[in-house]
Amino acid sequence: MPCYVTHLESAIDGTRLPADEPQTLHKDRPLVVRYDLDAVRKAVTRDELAERPATMWRYRELLPPRDERGIVSLGEQLTPVLRCRRLGERFELDALFIKDESRLPTGSFKSRGLAMAITMACQFGLRRVAIPTAGNAGGAMAVYAARAGIQAFVFMPADTPIINQLECRLAGARTFLVNGLITDCGRIVREGKEHLGWFDMSTLKEPYRIEGKKTMGLELAEQFGWRLPDVIVYPTGGGTGLIGMWKAFEELAALGWLADERRPRMVAVQSSGCAPIVRAFEAGARFAEPFAGAATIASGIRVPSAVGDFMILDAVRASGGRAIAVEEAKLRYWMALATSSEGIAVCPETAACVGAVEHLAVEGWIKRDERVVIFNTGAAQKYPEAMAIELPRLDKDAPIDWGKISGA
Ligand SMILES: *Cc1c(COP(=O)(O)O)cnc(C)c1O
Repeated sequence: MPCYVTHLESAIDGTRLPADEPQTLHKDRPLVVRYDLDAVRKAVTRDELAERPATMWRYRELLPPRDERGIVSLGEQLTPVLRCRRLGERFELDALFIKDESRLPTGSFKSRGLAMAITMACQFGLRRVAIPTAGNAGGAMAVYAARAGIQAFVFMPADTPIINQLECRLAGARTFLVNGLITDCGRIVREGKEHLGWFDMSTLKEPYRIEGKKTMGLELAEQFGWRLPDVIVYPTGGGTGLIGMWKAFEELAALGWLADERRPRMVAVQSSGCAPIVRAFEAGARFAEPFAGAATIASGIRVPSAVGDFMILDAVRASGGRAIAVEEAKLRYWMALATSSEGIAVCPETAACVGAVEHLAVEGWIKRDERVVIFNTGAAQKYPEAMAIELPRLDKDAPIDWGKISGA
């Protein structure tokens, strides 16, 4: 399997670094992977891809692993793009879609990034990895580390959803609850490097997670017949998903694989309970100030400060998109609305996107005939705390009240 990676490039100043050894940040900012796209263009056509197995590894010429046999995988299948007629009707949109990432291993899109990051860690011979997590990234890292037979350490805020706590432990990761935010967990991982010699897998602190997330964009392009949708609505925490997709579109454009020049307007969605990127966007700033008192049930986007803030904001602005915060108090409502309208069990992060689409459609920023894709980044089933549902009880010995059952 030939590899087309040429080097790593600093996102902040373009400095080139070698890709044949483990790398982290440059000037405290992320690195991105660069490829010889001319060689990729000669090596494969987009039609050839369609013949390959339906997993994220079908885009291998645009991915970093050097040896196919070293890929750490749990079968990351392509995720469906589902047309949402009922929800679309409600928002007066004719072409609303949800790309359902909850089908991936561990029930969230985090498996794309961590499958790639663990694959690359193993390629470099690393045997011990650590991660600060809002929840799903820890779960994903734990299972891929288990799959690879390497040691994992996970640090999460004490109020992380219980399923995330349990899945990490179940997969054998040494898992700890921290009485703070993800940024406090990040400090522990940073300090622990010296004491325990682990590799820091924090969001964007190693360059390969973006490449895994990038496959969302590659897949979406292929699924839309290489004609990208008009608007992508994405719940934004650390930003790897949005940055990765934008990178995918750049690379596809450079390869000449896209049907036309148009790129989607990228909408970065946050909750009013934690909206550092939205504040920076509105202030016209390139970097975001840490968001004080971050609180949201959408734990995946409870990220008060992101090392890749400028990459998110650059992509959103270059795309003609928006960063928008929606009301924290309405997340449960949108979660139930989307799930009961379409049967797709959306996570609270995606519920925020449903709210954003509602706002942007009413505002007229999204036009009725535009093709809009919301990403369901995780399964609702991972968030029992966010559902707050209590079911009515029936007494088996009492006469049944059929009126109560019919709900009429
Ligand atoms: C991590 C996460 C997000 C945020 O993704 P980023 O790419 O880090 O911005 C959104 N939704 C869910 C369910 C997540 O786990």
